[in-house]
This record gives sequence, C-alpha cells and structure tokens, in this order.
Amino acid sequence: MIAYLEHFVHENDSDAMLQQEDEETASRLCQAMDLQGTIDYRSTGYAGKDFGGLHASTPFAVIRPSGTHDIASVIRFASQSPNLTVAARGNGHSINGQAMANRGLVLDMKESSDAGIDLIRYTDGYAVDVGGGALWEDVLRWCVSEFGYSPRSWTDYLGLTVGGTLSNAGVSGQTFRYGPQTSNVTELEVVTGNGDTVICSDTQNSELFFSVLGGLGQFGIITRARVLVQPAPDMVRWIRVVYSEFDEFTQDAESLITQSEGESFDYVEGFVFVNSDDPVNGWPSVLLHPDHAFDPTPMTRFDNPVLYCLEVALHYNKGNCSTTVDTRVEKLLGRLRFMEDTQFQVDLTYVDFLLRVKEAEKQAKANGIWDTPHPWLNLFVSKTSIMDFDRFVFKKILKDGIGGPMLVYPILRSKWDERASIVLPEGEIFYIVALLRFTNPYQKSPSVRDLVSQNQEIIQTCVRSGFDFKLYLPHYNTEDDWKQHFGDRWLWFVEMKSRYDPMAILAPGQKIFTRHDESC
Ligand code: FAD
Repeated sequence: MIAYLEHFVHENDSDAMLQQEDEETASRLCQAMDLQGTIDYRSTGYAGKDFGGLHASTPFAVIRPSGTHDIASVIRFASQSPNLTVAARGNGHSINGQAMANRGLVLDMKESSDAGIDLIRYTDGYAVDVGGGALWEDVLRWCVSEFGYSPRSWTDYLGLTVGGTLSNAGVSGQTFRYGPQTSNVTELEVVTGNGDTVICSDTQNSELFFSVLGGLGQFGIITRARVLVQPAPDMVRWIRVVYSEFDEFTQDAESLITQSEGESFDYVEGFVFVNSDDPVNGWPSVLLHPDHAFDPTPMTRFDNPVLYCLEVALHYNKGNCSTTVDTRVEKLLGRLRFMEDTQFQVDLTYVDFLLRVKEAEKQAKANGIWDTPHPWLNLFVSKTSIMDFDRFVFKKILKDGIGGPMLVYPILRSKWDERASIVLPEGEIFYIVALLRFTNPYQKSPSVRDLVSQNQEIIQTCVRSGFDFKLYLPHYNTEDDWKQHFGDRWLWFVEMKSRYDPMAILAPGQKIFTRHDESC
C-alpha cells in the first residue's frame, strides 16, 4: 500500500488521475493506516490555504483522526514511506503556511465543541483536560458554563486551537500576570514524530514537554493539554484611554504590569493609531461601542502623526457594588497620565469580553476582508529598543496606518518558562508588537506584495538599528535565518528534533527542517 501511495504522490499530478480514484482508494488507505477516522484526498483545498492567504500548497490527503490512535498510525505510516510529511492543522490561522504539508498528509485537528472537558483538582487549584484540537472559544464557554472556572491566560481572538497556540506561545492582555498560555499548562499528551504517544510534564518526560511548548509543531502533535483554571469573574469593565506621547504611554503601561495583583488591572494592552479621523486607522478606532459619543477635540491639539491607546480591564462580580468598582477604577486610572477627556469604557460579561474579537470577525466577514490576504507581522521588541522602534517604525514607516490594529504592549519575561522552545529578547520587560493588516479589495490600497515588502523593511530597520527583537510566529526560509532566530538555543532545538522527529516528518510548513528522503 505504501508503494502504491508513493506512486500516487510522485506521479499523480493530473486531475484526470485524481478523478479515477474513488471511495475504494480512501477505504484502502484507511485500512493501510489502520484509521478509525476518515481520509479525504479530493476536497483538500482548504488545507492548502491559511488565514494569511499568502501561500498555497496541495496536500495529498486530509485526515480527520478519530483519536490519538489514528494520529500515531498516520505518523507511523508516513515514517515507513520514503518522503511523506505530516502537518497538524489547528484552525489554519497561521499567516505563512506553517500548518501546510505540500503533497503530504494534513491532520485536521479541529474538534467539535461537544467533545467535553474534564475538571481536575490539582495540587494548588484546578485544571481542565482539553483536546489539542479544541477551539479556545469552546474551552471558555464550556469551563464557565459547566464549572464557573476559566483558563487564566488567553489570546485576543479565541477561534484558535489549543495545540496551535501552545505550539507558538499564546499571548494577550493577561500575559503580564500569568505568562503566555505555554506557561499555564501542567501536562501534555503528545504523539511524537516516532509515532509514540507520550504523557509529559515538567517532572515526567520534561524535555519533550518543554520542547513542544512553543516548538512550532516540530517534535510532536499535542493531543491533550492540562490547562490551569481559576474561578471566572462575572463581569469586566473594559476601558480605553489615549496618550499623545509614547514615553508616557509606555511608562504607565509598565507601571501597571509591574504592580502586584489587586494593585492593578486584570488585563493590560495597547495600540497605536493614526492621528486623523480615518474610520479604520484613526481616532474612531478607539471607540468601544458605536453608541459612544465621540469628541476628537483633545486629539486635534497634537500634530503627532500617531497617538497611543492604553487598553485595560478590571474583573468584578455581580455582587460587587458599582461604587466599589468605580472607586477601584478611579484609583488605578488616577495614577496614569493619559489625555483629559479621552476615557472610554463599557461593562460587559467576562465571556463577552473574551469573545470581543468575534464581533470584529463577523463584521470583517460581512465586509469581505476576513478572507482576503493578511500579511501580518508579529515581533517581540525589548524595552531598550521600543522607543526607537516607535520613532523609526510607528512614526515613520507606519504613520498612515495598516488598515487594522497595530498592537503594542509590555510583558514580563519572568512569567515565561525559559525551558520552553520560545526565544525572547533580553531584559525583564519586552513588548509584543502585532501589525494586524487587513487588505480591502474594494478600496484603493497598496498591493499585498508592497505590504510584505513593508514588513521586510520593518525587520531590516530593526536589524540595521541593532534592536533587540525576535519574531513571534516566526517565518524564515533558510537554515541560517532559523539559526540566527534561535541563537544559543539552536543546537538544543536540533537535538530535540533528532530525538523526537528524527526523520523530520512533522510540520514541514515551518520550513525549519527537511524531511529525510529515503528514496534518494
Ligand atoms: P494552525 O495555524 O493550524 O497551526 C499553527 C502551527 O501549529 C502549525 O505549524 C501546525 O502544524 C502546528 N499545530 C497545530 N495544531 C497542533 C497540535 N495539536 N500539535 C502540534 N502542533 C500543532 N496569537 C496570539 O498569541 N495572541 C493573539 O491574540 C492572537 N490573535 C490572533 C487573531 C487572529 C485573527 C489570528 C488569525 C491569529 C491570531 N494569533 C494570536 C496567532 C495564532 O496564535 C497562531 O496563528 C496559531 O498558530 C493559530 O492557531 P491555529 O489553531 O489556527 O493553528
């Protein structure tokens, strides 16, 4: 069967041949792989695309595994073939083809929401066991409605899978307090590139555990994660305030993230916007609700090309009296130096707050800009470089905006576990910079090629200026670039690869290692 498949993979480029294949082939492949799930080698188009829309590939087949057993079988099957690769696809929200496998096997990991989640009593609290393909939005709804508990660390948008974000880091406005999502899991079940199913944690198979966290899918496929949870608050007060000066914005944001719990907000983020009335890039992007009255007078007093918005949130319960919440908020905001008359706020449920980007997704889908290309760029920039980054990048290269959010907010390195695979800039405080570009086919805007070039220009500016930075959700094409990215972690990364995926079967779309070709 493997010989047959290889013949198919190598020789069959034509639609005519594809059409000759039928249900029988799928069933023979299922048998050869000992699959209980399904295999589809016809409707594979979606697995050859991703949210970025910049890269395309043609997978040989998409497999919907029915469980860990199927995933192990697929990997073992691929390892017996001369050159098949396997990519786990979470929700395909990568930008640069990271979840693709050209002519390889794509495992569609996304699980249905009714898969169920178990609450586990842990030494110091509680955790939940969730599937690697579960969407975070389902994890949230399930945990809150069933147990009144919630994971502690999030991403801004929750239509992402547990395995997909844990393979990167998973950051948002709670990261300053709890660390990234990778710092909030205590145990994983992983199917390695050897086809072994292994339970790992910081005390059991710890090298595998830490290599998989932030490991860009290189060492194994996460089939289950044990995620720390805490009691979920009922409500959130979500607040935005505006700054004209970057140094005041960063000083205030840094003071908030270094205060102890109870002395600060529960969520701290920020973004840069254009000092104009442009509905997408300018002042209106600060509003939290369409009904908010908006008076741009305070912002028109400044001739800076860009302004800064600090975004914070405070958790509370329905039982808390509103004056207590008002007093806490006033006290915390009272220490900050934002511009007068630029405070916007709404109260909403905790679940609605965490699902806030879902609304933006609906609008973007309605406007047709969810499915167009997204040449996004994400960086971690050290505190020592962030002022110059503002001067050279925000105020110059990006002074007209990017058609979407330009996030910038500080996080603390000590909340990250340095044993994980993620590489960070030096120093305790560094910034996440997320340039979330949307391209509108109905408006005159720069071509996607120009936007990709602008991203390169930004990276080159960082390199030339000697900034201390790392790409988040990295994308490189050469081994030298990957070596440079990982720095002194590279040899360890290579060693882990040779231990857990020696034939380089997994996650070929990251373009870090090349599948050992046994047919040569
Ligand atoms: P995919 O894109 O499908 O996969 C990503 C990589 O992980 C691939 O290499 C894949 O092979 C591998 N992989 C997938 N599943 C598994 C698994 N179970 N085991 C092992 N490897 C696996 N990131 C943040 O940190 N914070 C944010 O706020 C944030 N917001 C976002 C908002 C949007 C609209 C989008 C599109 C992305 C956002 N991201 C954010 C980035 C996101 O975390 C990454 O793109 C992530 O990889 C997407 O998850 P996914 O489930 O779609 O994974």
